[in-house]
Amino acid sequence: MSQRLDQKVAVITGGTSGIGEATAECFVAEGAQVVICGRSLDKGEALAERLGEHCRFIQADVTQEADIERTLAFAVEQFGGLDILFNNAGGPTRGLVDSVEAEAIIYATELLFSSAALGMKHAIPLLRARGGGAIINNSSIAAIRDNQGDLIYSAIKAALTHYTRLASVRLGPENIRVNCISPGAIATPIFWGGSARANTLSAEENDQKMAKLQANLARATPLKRSGIANDIAQGALYLASDAGGFVNGHDLVIDGGRINLFNES
Ligand code: NAP
Repeated sequence: MSQRLDQKVAVITGGTSGIGEATAECFVAEGAQVVICGRSLDKGEALAERLGEHCRFIQADVTQEADIERTLAFAVEQFGGLDILFNNAGGPTRGLVDSVEAEAIIYATELLFSSAALGMKHAIPLLRARGGGAIINNSSIAAIRDNQGDLIYSAIKAALTHYTRLASVRLGPENIRVNCISPGAIATPIFWGGSARANTLSAEENDQKMAKLQANLARATPLKRSGIANDIAQGALYLASDAGGFVNGHDLVIDGGRINLFNES
């Protein structure tokens, strides 16, 4: 059976947990060669080992431009080029309108926006060298409506969504498609402090938090189930593959219909 990402090389930032981890599993199953990056050495190495010879991990912090460059160069070194970049790494931020701190704004911008913008910048020459490719940015429904994240997170994700649209116009003529995904509430450790915090808890504690979270999210979603990381991985697969070959500058909302609820928190 043909695989939808046969012969493709993908980089997934934030591949050590949640949506990035599920996307790495999905892309490898669909025939891609995948580089994942993140800060958590143990988790990244364990995942790469589990996924086998078509997956490699590199420790990198996406708030550092040199680490982003190093990650992309690693993909070229290991697998010979780049076809797909999934700018996925992210985490919780803090930003109340009456008490936000400058440091929190800078951190959120570096983590959620600069990481993707700089990832795109360094990926473009590599994608050009292959005659085109796909860039996917992980935004959020928080970019679109209230109560889905703190203010700074939401505003910066909105910048990322808009940047995606603008970049798609500029890169389309070079056969580089740029799209984003806006996940709704997807059960991952981002809800209990992000993957770095999850690393400090036992497997049992993380499982308990996940079970409780999924039950809560199911209640607050029209489909009456929690979003799971693989729901987003499937969207990324569509956007990365030939099935999405005429999709460019699109914001793919995957949220079980949550965005249509009024006043849902
Ligand atoms: P997660 O399980 O906490 O995973 C976050 C990933 O990002 C981890 O692999 C983490 O790896 C990586 N990461 C965080 N800071 C990093 C840094 N400075 N450098 C490199 N990697 C970093 O959360 P998730 O829910 O899968 O989130 C993935 C993306 O989806 C984020 O951009 C998030 O904003 C977006 N999103 C999530 C939801 C949701 O409901 N879950 C909704 C909308 C959008 P390390 O800790 O190993 O560095």
